[in-house]
Amino acid sequence: MLKLSKIIANYVKNMTKNEFSIIDLYFKPLTNNNKIAKNLSDDTASFCVKKDEEIVVSKDLIVEDVHFLRKDGAKNIAAKLLLSNLSDIAASGAEPIFYMLGFSKNNFVDKNFLEEFCSSLKEIQDKFKIFLAGGDTVLAGDKLFFSITIFGKIKKNKILSRNNAKNGDLIFVSGNVGDAYLGLLHNLEKIKTKDEKYFLQKFFNPQPRIELGKLLVKEKISKCAIDVSDGFFADLKHICQSSNLDAIIFKDKIPFSKPAKKLFDKIDFCDLLSGGEDYELIFSVHKKNKNKILKLAKKLKIELNYIGFFKKTKSAKIIFLDEKNQEIKIKKYGYEH
Ligand code: ADP
Ligand code: MG
Repeated sequence: MLKLSKIIANYVKNMTKNEFSIIDLYFKPLTNNNKIAKNLSDDTASFCVKKDEEIVVSKDLIVEDVHFLRKDGAKNIAAKLLLSNLSDIAASGAEPIFYMLGFSKNNFVDKNFLEEFCSSLKEIQDKFKIFLAGGDTVLAGDKLFFSITIFGKIKKNKILSRNNAKNGDLIFVSGNVGDAYLGLLHNLEKIKTKDEKYFLQKFFNPQPRIELGKLLVKEKISKCAIDVSDGFFADLKHICQSSNLDAIIFKDKIPFSKPAKKLFDKIDFCDLLSGGEDYELIFSVHKKNKNKILKLAKKLKIELNYIGFFKKTKSAKIIFLDEKNQEIKIKKYGYEH
């Protein structure tokens, strides 16, 4: 019989071997041989920064049965993880450069899982011209968890932030809100209709608005943005609180997709506005820049809709108005951490 110490020594050796083969086989190809990543064979990644540039960093951590389910599949899990990180960079107006990956494994993580996970990352990183620069790989217990730290760059002092909205600024939102929430409601195995597929796609494959964020900065259209991650109301409220302003929002101006509108008699549309995970941008625009928005929307081929304005008060709240300008009570703002 092997002594306990020997069993442990063997276990550690195998684990290490395993970890290295995962890194070599699956993670190294994601570095694109960029020298920042040092071929994933050093303790750190490193890169030079320019004097007039600011580095932007953001991290997301997702945990099994809290943020994702095993049955979602490796492709969807990886996509959601990287895309939500990219969306944080988009909301800052920066350009993403590279990311670091925190990876957990257990018996469930087999060759198939790894291949799907990494090809999903590859597809997205190619689209956004980013690469993997390092990370850590650990053995998990029952529950898997994954994390990405993403780095971006922007010209100094140009970052979009939540506290930069001004009294009288107009409020715009990109794309539609609520579709991801409807995707979340659906059961992956029971998807049949075109609309259900559309919602699911919006849930698992949100489009981080990187180009929009960059152009808001470059064309000096906005100084304040946030992405819709926790809920439209919850995220907008962050701007209100940080900028110390009320947001007056017109219900009939909020953009919902055609498939979502079809469900209005079946669902409480307030749920759509607190559901989150759309990863669209809410941003403020000075009145004088209103005309630039139309051009920008055309250029990017996305919808940018005016939904209300900011007003100076002491309450820093959202005033949600119906077609008759009557205030609607907001029952729920969003996902609470
Ligand atoms: P350390 O013991 O210093 O934490 P590791 O043995 O964990 O180093 O990792 C070795 C190398 O592999 C490092 O360059 C690290 O960045 C890289 N690496 C480990 N796990 C991952 C991962 N999940 N994604 C990308 N790179 C990774
Ligand atoms: Mg490590």
